[in-house]
Amino acid sequence: MIMKGKVYLVGAGPGNVGLITVRAVELIKSCDVIVYDYLANKRFLDYARPDAEIIYVGKKGGAHTVPQGGINALLIQKANEGKSVLRLKGGDPYIFGRGGEEAEELVDAGLDFEVVPGVTAAIGASAYAGIPLTHRKYTSTVAFVTGHEDPDKDETAIDWGKISTGIDSLVFFMGVKNLPYIVDNLLKHGRNPDTPVAIVRWGTTPDQQTWVGTLGTIKEIAQREGVAPPSLIIVGDEVKLREKLNWFEKKPLFGRRIIVTRARAQASDFVIKLEAAGAEAVEFPTIETVDPESWEDFDTALERVGEYDWMIFTSVNGVKYLLKRLKETGRDIRDLAGPKICAIGKITAKTVEDAAMRVDLVPDEYRAEAVIEAIGDVKGKKIFIPRAKEAREVLPEELRKKGARVDVAAVYRTVKPDTKKDEVLEMIRQGKIEMVTFTSSSTVTNFAEMFGDGELKEVQGKLKVASIGPITSATAEKLGFNIDVTPDEYTIEALTRSIIDCYSKNKE
Ligand code: SAH
Repeated sequence: MIMKGKVYLVGAGPGNVGLITVRAVELIKSCDVIVYDYLANKRFLDYARPDAEIIYVGKKGGAHTVPQGGINALLIQKANEGKSVLRLKGGDPYIFGRGGEEAEELVDAGLDFEVVPGVTAAIGASAYAGIPLTHRKYTSTVAFVTGHEDPDKDETAIDWGKISTGIDSLVFFMGVKNLPYIVDNLLKHGRNPDTPVAIVRWGTTPDQQTWVGTLGTIKEIAQREGVAPPSLIIVGDEVKLREKLNWFEKKPLFGRRIIVTRARAQASDFVIKLEAAGAEAVEFPTIETVDPESWEDFDTALERVGEYDWMIFTSVNGVKYLLKRLKETGRDIRDLAGPKICAIGKITAKTVEDAAMRVDLVPDEYRAEAVIEAIGDVKGKKIFIPRAKEAREVLPEELRKKGARVDVAAVYRTVKPDTKKDEVLEMIRQGKIEMVTFTSSSTVTNFAEMFGDGELKEVQGKLKVASIGPITSATAEKLGFNIDVTPDEYTIEALTRSIIDCYSKNKE
């Protein structure tokens, strides 16, 4: 007999990638099967195991891809096969998410289950629209109300008489189509027509839109503006606070989706910076780093490390892979004793220092001439450069021209990862992505290579381009990109600042 699996009913939050719980991420990383729907941000699926089975049962505008009975049967069937099954739902599973019904069915089927609450849209979208649902001055009671009732039904589960005047803040889910019915009922039952109303669409995401009116005006506003689902309708005096508390929509990169092409392992710092400024980073790694095919050159150089005058680190990865190799071969940093250490760029230097090694020299610039100038006379000096297999020859060649004896050894190489190109292309076509960022020449070349000729032209026509520095820009221009943003300093920090400047200058 197979052991029965378990089903997790998990809230994915309101859509913003940061608003999912730690427990939910843990489970996405570990479950065998993930069943998700339309409101759950697809980026969370990046956490899934590569071999996880991922099933879409979404619904859009009431049309279910898989009917509720089918979803329940699917969860039960997979769990009965002994699998751990994660049912990922937008917002909170128990707030208008049919999580209760699914849980009942699981119990009836004799299955074990767990619920992971999520940030419901009511809480998430209101906060991101600048509207506190309780406030001592404006509101002491809140109700979450379905806006999905059939207006032609004789019976209603909503006591309009009581909620219209008995509750201060009313939050209607799924109410766009029924907005006139909702407003008319509230007015008919005595709510003041001057009561403020906000509609928040795609709250907490780059697509967030907010409209504000009153019970007297909101129907006309919604019609004129063509307001569509998924939207929340918030009714109550607290909506007035938005004028003062609207913080999210004011972030400098609010509403912008920006492609990050760095290798996944290095991307997170950039992603965090972009998202702090209000953007949504679309991770589209075009390079990944792996061990070199052979460690022979490195190992040989290491045996004679004491003979070198200088060891030059040209990148963070160079440092990381070197340390990894030391560890794997039972060595440690004492085995690097001898040469002085030069690290190109502040971040590379910090990586060296984090490994408890002193950096003797940090040239301010990445150019070979700048490095040579900083080192001074290199004639007759022995220099060791552990670096990427594909690195450019300029630095060793220039050093040799000046009379140095240079040994270069690959400590890592770059490869192309599997990507979600089609998904990203579709988003670009729909105008959902605004910018692509390049942080090295290889990210440009690899990005360009992923698309066919026609596609690349299309992509270039639709996206702004941010490039970290002149070498990367030159590669990009050769491949037909027009550069919109370059920072003065070649760091992620400066690149992020320049992107913000670019958008605050051309507010469109
Ligand atoms: N369980 C979900 C609600 C599902 S019902 C939750 O707790 O949030 C679907 C309705 O939720 C939509 O019609 C809309 O009213 C609301 N909704 C979900 N996500 C939203 C978002 N990001 N912004 C505004 N409304 C949202």
